[in-house]
Amino acid sequence: MFESLTQRLSGTIERLRGRGRLTEENIRESLREVRIALLEADVALPVVQALVERIKVRAVGQEVLKSLTPGQALIKVVRDELTTVMGAAAADLNLNVPAPAVVLMAGLQGAGKTTTVAKLAKHLKERRKKKVMVVSADVYRPAAIEQLKTLAQQVDVLWFPSDPSQKPEAIVRAAIDDARKSFADVLIVDTAGRTSIDEAMMREIQALHAAVSPVETLFVVDSMTGQDAAVTAKHFGEALPLTGVVLTKTDGDARGGAALSVRYITGKPIKFIGTGEKPDGLDVFHPDRVASRILDMGDVLSLVEQVEQQVDKDKAAKLAEKVAKGKRFNLEDMRDQLEQMQNMGGLHGLMDKLPGMGQVPEHLKNQVTGKEVPRMMAIIGSMTPKERRNPHLLNGSRRARIARGSGTSPADVNKLLKQFQQMEKMMGKLAGGGMKGLMRGMKG
Ligand code: GDP
Repeated sequence: MFESLTQRLSGTIERLRGRGRLTEENIRESLREVRIALLEADVALPVVQALVERIKVRAVGQEVLKSLTPGQALIKVVRDELTTVMGAAAADLNLNVPAPAVVLMAGLQGAGKTTTVAKLAKHLKERRKKKVMVVSADVYRPAAIEQLKTLAQQVDVLWFPSDPSQKPEAIVRAAIDDARKSFADVLIVDTAGRTSIDEAMMREIQALHAAVSPVETLFVVDSMTGQDAAVTAKHFGEALPLTGVVLTKTDGDARGGAALSVRYITGKPIKFIGTGEKPDGLDVFHPDRVASRILDMGDVLSLVEQVEQQVDKDKAAKLAEKVAKGKRFNLEDMRDQLEQMQNMGGLHGLMDKLPGMGQVPEHLKNQVTGKEVPRMMAIIGSMTPKERRNPHLLNGSRRARIARGSGTSPADVNKLLKQFQQMEKMMGKLAGGGMKGLMRGMKG
């Protein structure tokens, strides 16, 4: 996600990092680079201008120039402003209404609406413990109704059948009645794809909106369309009172123009991002975490959450606590991590959430995903518990014994220990927590 923007910006950051002094000229130069990086990422021009202006005002002020570490102070300003332009706080769905809370989904054909309905149903069911029903108001495409039925079965939520001969309002009214009888908390309504210039279709969804008073009306838009996503959402927002935007296909979006433009151009928060085709490919949109990822500072919070959800909650919580307390990371922790990685698909997605990963060449990341992990686990398995907790004990003869025990070579053992040291260093930088820890993480 957003790799090309990250690469551009982290180049600029690399030059600033650790600078003992900054002048207005240095700052102007860096801001020029930030501006170009944003424009290349297809961020809408007004957004680029506002962002660069806000960064400039703060950058030439006391906060940066008088700071002991001006390079890092400037990076913090950039991160703050990226966060603000994306909306500051995360905005999950508002479901504080008498059940069933109706969530209406709108968007262009192919944006990913139906897929998102299923992902959202899964999210609300698993993360917010809601009983969910879905219904399709797409009376033009019986195939869309069937697609939703299949997806509903897949994520195991209630599905209300639609009669294409009925009007969308009648279908959804009947679904609301049924949801009430089934004690569903939420009813998610899929609609036909439409463009805002198609007046008849816009009147149809306005009528539907008026008839069923949804508590949330979400606009689903493909992030690959860059700043056009923001413009399309704005036009829709003028005709329909949107409460938020879902940005799909961010897994394929190297640039990030849509994520950075939508909030500023539409005034509506991005509430979720689609991160893959599968039903679990949906994340709550956290502007601060995404800003960190764009600056290659990692997104450890999401990483911990993901691990927590998908694997061993106790271990994940223990590691998070350890990192927060600044305790030493040891080979047992590393083995736990490897084990969890192995239990989990999508290792790539996980690694991308670690700070500094934007700099790691692709072939190195791939190494860890192959046969490497079982070998690393075998090496750690051949150590004594004491050695695992105190890696400094591992002298030459112990290393040779471990290589023999695990059927590997001393070079493999050394390589593992080197990888361990890198992880240890990264964890150490995260310790101390929050912004400060992350900023230290930038120093390398
Ligand atoms: P609709 O016409 O708006 O209902 O779109 P669909 O839900 O049928 O999705 C269109 C295509 O986009 C399908 O092939 C989906 O698998 C794909 N898609 C949707 N969301 C995502 C996403 O977040 N990532 C990726 N990679 N593909 C997605």
